[in-house]
Amino acid sequence: MDHTRLRGRGVSPGIAIGEVFLTERVIFTSRKESISPLHIKEEIRRLQKAIKKTEGQLTHIKEQIKSKMGKEHSFIFEAHLMILEDRSLLKNLEKIIKEERAKAEWALSQVHSKYYKVFESIDDEYLKERMSDVSDVLARIYRNLEVRTQKKRDGDKEKILVAHELLPSEAALRLSQGYVLAVAMDMGGQTSHTAILARSLNIPAVVGLHNITQRVKNGDSLIVDGTDGEVIINPPPVIRKEFSSKKKKYDDYREELKKTAKLSSLTLDKVRFFPLANIELPEEVDLAFSLGAEGIGLFRSEFLYLQRTSLPTEEDHLSIYSRIAKGAYPSPVYIRTIDIGGEKTLPLFKIEKEPNPALGLRAIRFSLKNKDMFKVQIRAILKASSLKNVRILIPMITEVEEIEEVKLIFREVKEELKREKVRFDENIPLGVMIEVPAAAAITDILVKEVDYLSIGTNDLIQYYLAVDRSNESVSYLYKSLHPSVLRIIKFIIDTTRREGKDIAVCGEMAADPLSAIVLLGFGLRKFSMNPIFIPRIKKVLRSVEYKFVKSVVQKAMSLKTAQEIEEYIIEKILVKHPQAFLMSEMK
Ligand code: PEP
Ligand code: MG
Repeated sequence: MDHTRLRGRGVSPGIAIGEVFLTERVIFTSRKESISPLHIKEEIRRLQKAIKKTEGQLTHIKEQIKSKMGKEHSFIFEAHLMILEDRSLLKNLEKIIKEERAKAEWALSQVHSKYYKVFESIDDEYLKERMSDVSDVLARIYRNLEVRTQKKRDGDKEKILVAHELLPSEAALRLSQGYVLAVAMDMGGQTSHTAILARSLNIPAVVGLHNITQRVKNGDSLIVDGTDGEVIINPPPVIRKEFSSKKKKYDDYREELKKTAKLSSLTLDKVRFFPLANIELPEEVDLAFSLGAEGIGLFRSEFLYLQRTSLPTEEDHLSIYSRIAKGAYPSPVYIRTIDIGGEKTLPLFKIEKEPNPALGLRAIRFSLKNKDMFKVQIRAILKASSLKNVRILIPMITEVEEIEEVKLIFREVKEELKREKVRFDENIPLGVMIEVPAAAAITDILVKEVDYLSIGTNDLIQYYLAVDRSNESVSYLYKSLHPSVLRIIKFIIDTTRREGKDIAVCGEMAADPLSAIVLLGFGLRKFSMNPIFIPRIKKVLRSVEYKFVKSVVQKAMSLKTAQEIEEYIIEKILVKHPQAFLMSEMK
């Protein structure tokens, strides 16, 4: 049998070898089937029956997901139920059946393509993605028009799930059932919900394969390499063998990394460091600690606002923060207030499109313009702080006035809670992210206003070097080892330590082995990153001597370019600590 290799994007590492289970994709009909006027009423009844059945299914799935994975994963189904309840949708469908004397399938197909055209013309990635929710609901109704006994298609053995696009409702349901060995999809991106879920559940996944659904059938054998972003259809024995041994190596490596997770976080000369985790979902807490995290260094709370059609209530916030705080207890949890606005627009807020979103109404700027909403979040964070392991982190601070405003709101909310006799941590630490060059330059002033600082290198580098962090054509300029970046980071760390305050780095830089060594040399002790990278960084930092690194980094600071700095550090470290770089790379 011929085999085919396909390249995609690996969004969750690991290798799986198994049998294909193809999720059924609804293809909306392109053929209009006419009906006689006498049958119109009957056809509308058939449609209504399918809608009713869909409603029943969605309510059932919603309850199941709520009990299996937590309330926040069930919001998506609330949104779907709302789409279903939309009167204009039903009216539109009925109108097509009546006026065109056509079958319900045709009506659904017409409405689907109408929505598709509308969403296509919208210049907003988030809104565009919401098309998948509408598709999800319409496809479900379409399927339910068919009267058939539901075949049990997916309940049995562990298989590799192949899908065109795993609709949000399916992702949560299927991946949580425990029979999915790996996922391969035609569509999808790094930050899709499926990718995040797969990573947190340790399921290898490759997305962006374009047409894998057309190239495989149920029962084909498949290799999914989520580390290298490759999929092989019907591999011959020799390739199977090659990947079995690669899989074994990866699994062994992962086991070894897990062992590293249990080792102490000390450099060779016994300097203590702290690996912390950046997370987006409460489900990631367990994974983070199993990989060696000693706290949650960044909870990106924007997640709470995604996939919702209404604003989260105080209880919604509280249930998630409490889950994370309890899950991590007694380790610390840094809850960052929302970082939306700019690129991350949400339909909920109807934000005006801005000419320069990265420089616009983003993060704390947005929160201070929407104080009622901000207060809800602060109240919930305070309420979740009674265990005393919660810290508040404010993103994108530019000037002292913003901190003063935040503190004022803080005081108000604390007073409110005291009046209500709610227990919370009176001394909850307040910190700000240093992401804007202006804030970095006044670190000495800002640090006196707060309990700790956290450097968001992703944005700090973008703004400092004037390089859009997501623009491929200028990515060659995005260098974390640029001498100017290192100077400013060194200044922030030195200044904060001199004040005796806590400092962390929570951008991608902390997850890069070479940069982590440089940061250690600057005296950094708290490294917060995607949990997947923790074992690797822990291994690197455990294999070097702080004193030596410090002197190497000091000398490197007099060099002229990022390349010279990189080469110098690698050369010096390799000679003294070859084991620091001797390891297979893990994505
Ligand atoms: C950063 O900017 O480094 C950061 C951690 O925040 P985000 O990536 O969420 O913008
Ligand atoms: Mg940022």
